[in-house]
Amino acid sequence: MEYPQHFDVIVIGGGHAGTEACLAAARMGCRTLLLTHSVDTLGQMSCNPAIGGIGKSHLVKEIDALGGAMARATDAAGIQFRVLNARKGPAVRATRAQADRVLYKNAIRGILESQPNLLIFQQPVDDLLLEQGKVAGAITQMGLVFRAPRVVLTTGTFLGGRIHIGLDNSAGGRAGDPPSIALAQRLRDMPFRVERLKTGTPPRIDARSVDFTHLEEQWGDSPEPVMSFMGSVQEHPEQRCCWITYTNEKTHALIRGGLDRSPMYSGVIEGVGPRYCPSIEDKIHRFADKTSHQVFIEPEGLNTPELYPNGISTSLPFDVQIAMVRSIAGFENAHITRPGYAIEYDFFDPRDLQYSLETRAVPGLYFAGQINGTTGYEEAAAQGLLAGMNAALAVQEKDPWCPRRDEAYIGVLVDDLISMGTLEPYRMFTSRAEYRLLLREDNADLRLTESGRGFGLIDDERWQRFEAKREAIAVETQRLATTFVHPGTEPAAALETNLGKPITREYSLADLLKRPELDYADVASLKGESISDEQAAEQVAIQAKYAGYIDRQQDEIERLRRHEGMALPQDLDYSAVDGLSNEVCQKLSEARPETLARAGRIPGVTPAAVSLLLIYLKKRG
Ligand code: FAD
Repeated sequence: MEYPQHFDVIVIGGGHAGTEACLAAARMGCRTLLLTHSVDTLGQMSCNPAIGGIGKSHLVKEIDALGGAMARATDAAGIQFRVLNARKGPAVRATRAQADRVLYKNAIRGILESQPNLLIFQQPVDDLLLEQGKVAGAITQMGLVFRAPRVVLTTGTFLGGRIHIGLDNSAGGRAGDPPSIALAQRLRDMPFRVERLKTGTPPRIDARSVDFTHLEEQWGDSPEPVMSFMGSVQEHPEQRCCWITYTNEKTHALIRGGLDRSPMYSGVIEGVGPRYCPSIEDKIHRFADKTSHQVFIEPEGLNTPELYPNGISTSLPFDVQIAMVRSIAGFENAHITRPGYAIEYDFFDPRDLQYSLETRAVPGLYFAGQINGTTGYEEAAAQGLLAGMNAALAVQEKDPWCPRRDEAYIGVLVDDLISMGTLEPYRMFTSRAEYRLLLREDNADLRLTESGRGFGLIDDERWQRFEAKREAIAVETQRLATTFVHPGTEPAAALETNLGKPITREYSLADLLKRPELDYADVASLKGESISDEQAAEQVAIQAKYAGYIDRQQDEIERLRRHEGMALPQDLDYSAVDGLSNEVCQKLSEARPETLARAGRIPGVTPAAVSLLLIYLKKRG
């Protein structure tokens, strides 16, 4: 009997990177195979049951704008939705959802199983097939050989994975899953730079043993935000609350008392952990003067009493974990259902990748996700989508694609990784993007969906909805710019109350919308009909309100693009450049970038600093 063994693209690993990678390749028409340890763990959340948040939701919405699965699965599984930074500017607003783990996995599996051109096969991959220095396929534990000219590797925390609880450690890919040892060994024989990183997770707690009486409740937002452009509140399952509690001095004393048996502080763990998601022992050590840390208690799902206490990730010995947990308000009698642990794993230096995420050393082989030194589901999914689509583009003999830093957070992520590498697990923040006013989560579709359609990633239904929204924005923007309010008229009087002063000359509705006292609802229906599409209305309002800043960022980008190849002399005295801060000056002197564009990519070197450099170089002639 013949078994399908020849594909265009093979994706190894069914986590967040792998699922987006194989969906993208299959959507683009490639015969695609997903090889993974277990069909039951497709789209599994290894750590906290939440998607999105600051910087991360921007990635989720970009993945969505390119037709990916993460946002749709979040709408199907989200049991609490909030907009973080809601009172701040639109650039840093971020949607975050608590997700029911099981519903999330089911949603991802459903999307995968209904995707044409995609086959799923459950088998660990032990080796890569190489022919004439290029990748040619994958070899599974059973010795089955699957062939494809393009292979995307997305093995997450599994390569050489070692789980630590106190001074005990054992091999594992994450709790309950086997590690990937044979493949890790094989990759170490190839010309890649390999290092170790570590990450950790908190103990889980049975809600039936928690005293909620004095815990602060936190509910989601109303109206409920939606994650996907195609999503709706009606798809959301029942909504649940989270709770807040705090560690205290007793908790901290117990942790300090256990540090001699901590794998991190006794030197057993060598890998570097995530700076922005530190373990509780790390926080106690680093912020020794703090007497309390917040613990955000998240439900793991609708049909389980398990809770995820966000903020107390730990690899301390289990006896210390029990005592520490029970010292926290509400957890006095807590039953731990799963111990917390840390995991160390192999990752590959992302500086050895191209912008397509194809490795430089082995043509045809792509790396995406945690394997590239990142942390987080969203960062992994974004890379997966990019690697999968680039694998498909290569099969179609087309040029690779990666959005620029001023087009997408995906571009920022890849550019940061490839140009600077990483010494610790890399996570996304809005502060990593120089042009964050342009890269808002609300305009991800406007930035990317047209490109996605060109690559074959966007289906007709989404495209039609997108075109209708874009058209509505254009028509309404034009109407606001060409509709005027005159002094002494009824519409002017209606606005004067909010403005607190009289209108003394003619203004367009677009001009009025720029006033901080007025919003779209105040202005749009004063003369004629406003639009009913909420997403389009939001877009028109943001574009009008921030037009000045947006135009300025766009000018900066244009100017830099014209000059980005400009060489920076290697002996340049940065202290002679007027207006540069000491910090920027020091960073540039150390890095000695070759071009203006490279200077702009150094963390902390702002677009304003690049402009100063440009002025200086032009003056110098
Ligand atoms: P994964 O989600 O790990 O998926 C890898 C997939 O590859 C799995 O399906 C696996 O079965 C499969 N696989 C591996 N090897 C093979 C093979 N040889 N053959 C076939 N299939 C294979 N992120 C945060 O943002 N914050 C945190 O605090 C945090 N803590 C974490 C704590 C722990 C203990 C763990 C394990 C992860 C944590 N993460 C955290 C990371 C988060 O889980 C990952 O960033 C994300 O899951 C990475 O996605 P990925 O697709 O790269 O890999």
